[in-house]
Amino acid sequence: MSRSQPVSPLVAENRGAEKPQDSRDDGLAISRTPKGALRLENAKTAASLSNTTVFHRLQELLHYLELGTSAANLAGALETARKQELSAAEFLEGLLRKEVEVAMARRMKSRARLANLPTSKTLQTFDFDFQPSIDRGVIAELSTLRFIEERRNVVLLGPPGVGKSHLAIALGLLALNAGYRVRFTSAAALVTNLQGNYERGTLLKRERQAITGPPLLIVDELGYLPLDQAAANWIFHVVSKRYERGSIIITSNRGFADWAQIFNDVVVATAIVDRLIHNATVINIRGKSYRMRNYLADQREDRPASVLNGPP
Ligand code: ADP
Ligand code: MG
Repeated sequence: MSRSQPVSPLVAENRGAEKPQDSRDDGLAISRTPKGALRLENAKTAASLSNTTVFHRLQELLHYLELGTSAANLAGALETARKQELSAAEFLEGLLRKEVEVAMARRMKSRARLANLPTSKTLQTFDFDFQPSIDRGVIAELSTLRFIEERRNVVLLGPPGVGKSHLAIALGLLALNAGYRVRFTSAAALVTNLQGNYERGTLLKRERQAITGPPLLIVDELGYLPLDQAAANWIFHVVSKRYERGSIIITSNRGFADWAQIFNDVVVATAIVDRLIHNATVINIRGKSYRMRNYLADQREDRPASVLNGPP
């Protein structure tokens, strides 16, 4: 079957006026009623069917409707239906289910690309014993993703290495797998992108795609670098655009008390914090860096050893 011969609705209509095929043996056959509706009947084998024009017409219709997977699977699905003596409804369900599965996988792939998650982190690989200041109940509640439905924000605060980004990415991944559109960005990249788009005159498009569009926006590493006035205004812009419209997960190594310093402006900082925490879950992580755990463990193990061995 070639795509160079698309079926126009008009042609399909005319073809529908043809006499319906009647091949009512034991296998399946597809024919048309005089009004053009498709009718599935029995015929001996799918192989014999594939030679019939109705098979090709059906494939054309599937291509016209952009159901390429179904068109490709048609012969196989007919053969299965014949062997397993499936009803017309069962045959159609199987054919369309496969189409939907392929479409969903394609959409998932494209959502994952747009989400821009830097690595894959999960809650399962997070060692909560290492970080006792984190309330597992709060994380469990967040993992239901109700916060996205309620347009709640999540603020993860704490020193470097305590797992802020890990938790943000893990929640992002959960949301992605649940079918939400997600967008991950560092605070610095967010500001650079917005400024660049503003200068190019493409800000509105950018906002729709990345800022206001996704139900979950993850802004990582706010406060690692001090922000100038313009950057602070961009962060304010994002927070106010999304206020009560979509969730933000934000991570920062600085407590709220330091935000005036990050933004170099008390008024802007207060306005941002106000909107951000109006409806938010704030998680303050007080603990050791996970990156340093081996080093810290080595030190603990070294101590008794060095006592036993005495000074060199
Ligand atoms: P932060 O964003 O707070 O600076 P990260 O989330 O980037 O810290 O964590 C640093 C590294 O340590 C990452 O590879 C992360 O997966 C890992 N990590 C941090 N905390 C834990 C933890 N409690 N259990 C497992 N891995 C962790
Ligand atoms: Mg981080």
